[in-house]
Amino acid sequence: MSKNVAILGLGTMGAGMAANLLKAGFSLAVYNRTPDKAQGLIHDGARFASTPAEAARDAAIVISMLADDAASREVWMGQSGALAAVKEGTILIESSTVSPAWIAELADAAARKGVKLLDAPVTGSRVQAASGQLLFLVGGDDATVEAATPVLKAMSKEIVHLGPVGSGARMKLINNFLCGVQIASLAEGLVWIERSGLDVEKALAVLKAGAPGSPLLGAISARMAARDYSVNFLLKLMEKDLLYAEKEAARSHVHLKTSETARSLFEEASRRGFADKDMSSVIEPLRSSK
Ligand code: NAP
Repeated sequence: MSKNVAILGLGTMGAGMAANLLKAGFSLAVYNRTPDKAQGLIHDGARFASTPAEAARDAAIVISMLADDAASREVWMGQSGALAAVKEGTILIESSTVSPAWIAELADAAARKGVKLLDAPVTGSRVQAASGQLLFLVGGDDATVEAATPVLKAMSKEIVHLGPVGSGARMKLINNFLCGVQIASLAEGLVWIERSGLDVEKALAVLKAGAPGSPLLGAISARMAARDYSVNFLLKLMEKDLLYAEKEAARSHVHLKTSETARSLFEEASRRGFADKDMSSVIEPLRSSK
């Protein structure tokens, strides 16, 4: 397989992933709607493409890492979209957290073009993207997963092949549903601790060491307690993930009531101006409520 790779989307996650592809020696074309974000990568040897089509034209593998379904649709299928430009045999990897319904539509469009799609969303955040320690949740056929593995390896500590196309997207929404609900309940719990007069540090230490303890609780409670809302994971993206999770679960006749409640907290924080802050800021409207 040629070493030509393209990455579409250089946000919090895409920028780190691109840097690791360069480090691993791939010849990398990069596209981002806001070109300024590509400066550092260009300096390190990436080629900037002014459209998704231009980025994808010579690539053996095209990865996208974008905000949501709408962004993914625009970059793959919009004017100067990547799909129209790819050559037969190219592998498309959709790593954004998007809906399985959109993945199915994109996979159909890819098949009509004679190319294969993997859905390969990730767990891990800014730090893991930058250090090549992501975990890929992959959907697709065996041969395509195998062909894409060297590229995925350059960005990850683990690759889990869950089944056919759509399996990765489904697994990712289940994962983030559980994360979103835990973060919302942590926000309520921490405000309760703060108002109750308990020592915050001691109370959080009990929770972290006890049954509710998780890597997420450890990381997010520290940020909430310190009021550090510098962005690892945008609050508006968690709102989106919970909405996609609810819609997808409904297709399996599962009603995610806890997700709806958690999402109402994220929506309230969005309305109060925290949409573009870290998701840990979901606690702020609760702190100011009576
Ligand atoms: P981000 O920093 O907000 O980056 C979003 C990217 O999408 C940017 O490149 C942005 O371009 C692009 N974009 C948005 N709307 C667009 C449109 N209409 N047309 C073209 N490009 C558009 O988000 P991120 O944190 O990197 O997340 C990327 C994906 O990974 C999301 O699906 C997210 O849910 C998922 N994810 C994130 C994390 C995390 O911890 N951050 C972890 C796991 C998964 P501009 O630069 O021009 O705005």
